[in-house]
Amino acid sequence: MKIEQLVREVYPNLMPYTSKLADLPVEEIKKVLGKERVFKLSFNENPLGPSPKAIEAMQQAIRKLNLYPSSTGALVQQKIAEMEEVLPENIILSNGADEMITMVAQTYLDPGDEVIIPEVTFVQYFASAHLMGAKPVLAPMKEDLGIDLQAILDRITTKTKLICLCNPNNPTGAVIRKQELVSFFQQLPDHVIVVIDEAYHEYAGGPEYFSSIPFVKENYPVFVIRTFSKIYSMAAARLGYGIGPVPIVNAIHQVRSPFNVNSVAQAGAVASLKDQEHVEQALKINEAGKNLLYKAFEELGFTYIKSHGNFVYVNTGYNSGELFTQLAEQYGIIVRNLSGYGLTTSLRISVGTEDELQALIQALYLIFEK
Ligand SMILES: *Cc1c(COP(=O)(O)O)cnc(C)c1O
Repeated sequence: MKIEQLVREVYPNLMPYTSKLADLPVEEIKKVLGKERVFKLSFNENPLGPSPKAIEAMQQAIRKLNLYPSSTGALVQQKIAEMEEVLPENIILSNGADEMITMVAQTYLDPGDEVIIPEVTFVQYFASAHLMGAKPVLAPMKEDLGIDLQAILDRITTKTKLICLCNPNNPTGAVIRKQELVSFFQQLPDHVIVVIDEAYHEYAGGPEYFSSIPFVKENYPVFVIRTFSKIYSMAAARLGYGIGPVPIVNAIHQVRSPFNVNSVAQAGAVASLKDQEHVEQALKINEAGKNLLYKAFEELGFTYIKSHGNFVYVNTGYNSGELFTQLAEQYGIIVRNLSGYGLTTSLRISVGTEDELQALIQALYLIFEK
């Protein structure tokens, strides 16, 4: 028997992560491109960096690396519970939001179960369904690339187990309106759990955005996922969390590995949550950066979507594979090419530092001869 044949019967047949240029760490991109300076605007990383208070707390935590961390992340649970006005038992931590998506799949998906996923959204929902031998069912987007909840409801069958929504949605930055969410939850049959990924929650604002935590409090079958990777700027520490009704949280605890979140990340998270001034600062930088991009896109005649995240979806009207390559090879600027979604002239651009955004804008002016 060949070793290749020994993997389990249900085994994901997808491309491993890390094979694309835009997914490499910046130092490796420099090597590949042979450039000393590379601007990476493909990962929605926060250019501000972690709160100084979080750094201090993490430095302290390192001294106790000989001790195992709290299995559940008790102090983090407590702090989030306080902020969101839920109970600590409504909260579960993960090694990044990505791990949470996998754990939800491991908890709920049998081979043959269906998972409804919007066509244009974060790819990990798709990958985790595959991992479990479940069937991803793609729901088309609205004309304006908004998530179409009616199209999702129309695709529910007796085999549907999960629905994955991302709000604000990555890669469009668009949000789902409150009224639509309310009506959606009212129409949901009781054999379906809705996962709502709110990785960009803290960036989203205004009357259009509505978090789904209130639905959790009303005991709807909703599981909200958040992360410390985006506004809290701790992507490398790997810390995500979920908020849901106790039966969902307890079920996921059964598949969680005992010490999935390290103590350094836990310490950093508590300190980060206490430093809301730092969050305000990140928001300010993000707003200024988005406005820079919007203005340039308008001058260049591109269409874009007003974003509730730290990235902007833009349609340049020009082949995005070619534009990606030109930006990378000539200017050392890495963006996210959205061709994989069939959006062949669209890019997602992270809101980097002002210098990074100015470099991108200059490059676009040169390429489009404006
Ligand atoms: C970045 C991102 C994540 C992953 O976050 P980690 O906590 O770093 O794993 C999950 N969902 C969405 C929508 C994201 O954009």
